[in-house]
Amino acid sequence: MKKIALHWKIIAGLVLGIVLGFICSQLNGGKQFILDWVQPFGTIFVKLLKLIAIPLIMGSLIKGISDLKDISKFKSMGIKTIVLYIFSTIVAITIGLSLANFFKPGDGISNETVETLKSNYINNASVQSKLSEAQNQRLQGPLQFVVDIIPSNIVEAMSDNKSMLKVIFFTLFLGICMLLIDEKKAKPLKDFFDSLNDVILKMIDIIMLFAPYAVLSLLATVVVNSDDVDVLIALLKYAGIVVLGLLLMIVFYALCISIVVKKSPLWFLKNISPAQLLAFSTSSSAATLPVTMERVEEHLGVEKEVSSFVLPVGATINMDGTSLYQAVAAVFIMQVLWPEGLTVSNQLTIIVTALIASIGSAAVPGAGMVMLLIVLDTIGFPKELLPIGLSLIFAVDRPLDMLRTTINVTGDATVALIVSKMERKKG
Ligand code: ASP
Repeated sequence: MKKIALHWKIIAGLVLGIVLGFICSQLNGGKQFILDWVQPFGTIFVKLLKLIAIPLIMGSLIKGISDLKDISKFKSMGIKTIVLYIFSTIVAITIGLSLANFFKPGDGISNETVETLKSNYINNASVQSKLSEAQNQRLQGPLQFVVDIIPSNIVEAMSDNKSMLKVIFFTLFLGICMLLIDEKKAKPLKDFFDSLNDVILKMIDIIMLFAPYAVLSLLATVVVNSDDVDVLIALLKYAGIVVLGLLLMIVFYALCISIVVKKSPLWFLKNISPAQLLAFSTSSSAATLPVTMERVEEHLGVEKEVSSFVLPVGATINMDGTSLYQAVAAVFIMQVLWPEGLTVSNQLTIIVTALIASIGSAAVPGAGMVMLLIVLDTIGFPKELLPIGLSLIFAVDRPLDMLRTTINVTGDATVALIVSKMERKKG
């Protein structure tokens, strides 16, 4: 019998998860059943992926660096990566702003809807915690993000999933110094990381066998936890515009793949799809990272030295989907609550702040929404309206998070392919 491709199995899990979630949300006690007996499998899967992320980054980055002929190649790769990441994020924000200005999602919202959304969500624990998270972020100085990249304790950095850049910094430093010492002395360490890398790849293979079931569990949980359909319908125009923008980003990536990389976009999408489906199911680029790395290296043929740098950095700082969403959401909230603030200069400021905010967003579910508050705050949005603004978009945030995370991961993989192509050309 022909083996069924992994992405089909995951899609089947996804569909079954949605169906199961719908059925159980109609049944008495169904929601509790999903939370008690189905959700844990998805949680275990996400934990396993997070578990291997740090050793994978370390093993694969050290292997990548130690295979380099000279360090200058690394510098050129680093510059290209950062420039491409900034470029693709600016494209995403521009698409978001253009669509939101053209379709004006905020204009169709009645006062009654605003009141309903406000009363439904303003006291929601999650909305409140996002507001206080944003408050903490705001207190930090402008150079704080640079300070944050340097770890003072590597074990502590490795134990926190939000500190990926710290681990990358340490690993890069370690790898480069391994090149600078006597080759014979560096060899045992190199062999260790080589072997670690192979073992972790095997672990990913094994964990992925479980992916279709985990996706079923994750989706069923999302469905039983989702809000009333009425609320979702009121926000359909806003959500539709975010989705349209994200689809345009896929078109943009497809064009990059065919024009710059000179490969078929279908080939790209087919090979990256398991990572996209996991990003969709987990809403976390960090949890998806091991699978993204495996797909990009083993199935899209990108060299380890490129993927092991470009992808972990991308998962942390390159969030095209998030920045596009932040642009649309910021304009939407302003159209409803603060139309006088929608000036050209404020919109230009949104380009810069959404760029920085998406870089600063952690690669975990819901992080983009916290940074959206910072975007609004920077352009002078009245502070007292922030909780109402958040209540407006909260109901549809989870589905949009699933979609924007998919785009975030696709963007990282696209840049990895472009950098690999450019480096190969250079020879
Ligand atoms: N969940 C997104 C990610 O992990 C971040 C966000 O937009 O909330 O990529």
